[in-house]
Amino acid sequence: MKHLHSGKVRDLYELPGGELLMVARDTISAYDFVLEPVIPDKGKILTQLSLWWFEQLADVVPNHVISTELPDGAPAEWAGRAVVVRRLEMVPVECVARGYLTGSGLKEYRRSGSVCGVPLPEGLVDGSKLPEPIFTPTTKAALGAHDEPMTFAEVVSAVGAEVAERLREVTVEIYRRGARLAAERGIIVADTKIELGWSPEGELVLADEVLTPDSSRFWPADRWAPGGPQPSFDKQFVRDWLTSAEAGWDRASGDPPPPLPPHIVERTRAKYIEAYERLTGRAFG
Ligand code: ATP
Ligand code: MG
Repeated sequence: MKHLHSGKVRDLYELPGGELLMVARDTISAYDFVLEPVIPDKGKILTQLSLWWFEQLADVVPNHVISTELPDGAPAEWAGRAVVVRRLEMVPVECVARGYLTGSGLKEYRRSGSVCGVPLPEGLVDGSKLPEPIFTPTTKAALGAHDEPMTFAEVVSAVGAEVAERLREVTVEIYRRGARLAAERGIIVADTKIELGWSPEGELVLADEVLTPDSSRFWPADRWAPGGPQPSFDKQFVRDWLTSAEAGWDRASGDPPPPLPPHIVERTRAKYIEAYERLTGRAFG
């Protein structure tokens, strides 16, 4: 097994047959830093949730999964968090769809009245629902760098008009489908990021992870109250702690953030498990 690449959360290996083995670690990242310590079981939760979503979305877009069986030679501790996948040529755009306004989208809206070149109505606040879900792509930055917003015209320059159109269509449809299904389980999907790639046959394929608490903002629907930060099932909780007085971290300093205290680790783990269990209707473990 040849090690190919390590991202913030996943390691990629090449298998003898040319397929890839994607292994999710328990690490958590925020503000472009990999944090300490790990969140126990996180890799397994994200992997299992993505696998469940890949199945739900199979009629929208094909996915990269080949097998969930651990290949020969893989350590037993990878069970549940390793997936054999098709090797794709990744599209050089992070495909984001937003149904609600918050985070970097809100910042951009306050500055310009639009997000990634999409004009929005006046008077929206933190947590507002958008009239329609919108495509707000970003660049795919290297490890440690920050993804920058792209306008649709910039996506067209990067990949051509036809592909850009297709990326927008698939991204917004996955958002719509995910948001509809999550709504039935009392969860708002505020926004989500997907990664797409090309198969050797020229098919556009969904890769990486999908509709997880790492790639999406999940809010409990019964507590949604626009006008400020929303309670969430995702790592917003960790981001909020990092920027709190308790953490004592100056984000602007460029220094790495302090280690997460045990109670934050435990609550983060519980939130990830709750998101998994509510969405899939299955017990984790
Ligand atoms: P983040 O997901 O936080 O934006 P990242 O992409 O560095 O950052 P990881 O999820 O750790 O985070 O890395 C997985 C890497 O594997 C990504 O670069 C992704 O594009 C790539 N990848 C995922 N699926 C495939 C695939 N089927 N073929 C080729 N590369 C893939
Ligand atoms: Mg990723």
